[in-house]
Amino acid sequence: MTLASLEQALGGTGYYASTTAPEPALPFSNSVNHFPYGNPLGLSYVDQKGNVTVQNSDRPYEHIREAGTMEQIVNEYLRSAEGHKFIQYAQSRGNNFMELLGVGAADLGENVVAAVMHDGEKGILVGNYEGNDFYSRVQQLARQYGIDSKAALEYTLTHEFGHVAGYDTEARNEAFIKDYFIERAAETGGAERQKYMQLAAVAEYREQEAERTN
Ligand SMILES: [Zn+2]
Repeated sequence: MTLASLEQALGGTGYYASTTAPEPALPFSNSVNHFPYGNPLGLSYVDQKGNVTVQNSDRPYEHIREAGTMEQIVNEYLRSAEGHKFIQYAQSRGNNFMELLGVGAADLGENVVAAVMHDGEKGILVGNYEGNDFYSRVQQLARQYGIDSKAALEYTLTHEFGHVAGYDTEARNEAFIKDYFIERAAETGGAERQKYMQLAAVAEYREQEAERTN
């Protein structure tokens, strides 16, 4: 298969570019239930208050379960040293973070691992659950790039938080996270350094792919 862009299906159609979070000021769970885009995606997410929303799902139990799992994964990342470092790095670059309204799971198409559905100001981070769960997709990504699955998970979350940090196109985002990985490689040693060099190479490759296909 072609290089599995994390948002390949979305990038291909431009679908996500036009998928915006709904009107501000409404409780998000309300507004997402009335997604004004004819959004066919099955989706569930957990908002900042712990409220769970599900929409358009043909298997709501699974989507809700996967949304909870995804929220845990993201929270663990944000609490981890790796997550702290990246958020600090992004903030130090003066980026305009979007507001993360929730984390969940959605049917994102065959080759997609995760995505941020957003309008540039507010967004939801979703892992792909379309039969295969997010983690098995991360493992598939790991095999594709010849890295271990923990590194692939870090790559995936760094990438998605690169979008949250305001890097809206794949090429700009990959360039941004590549620089971050290079900096981390310079700051670390041994296996850590090795990992960040690998992740920088993945980001560079994907940056070139994104530029080539645009
Ligand atoms: Zn992306």
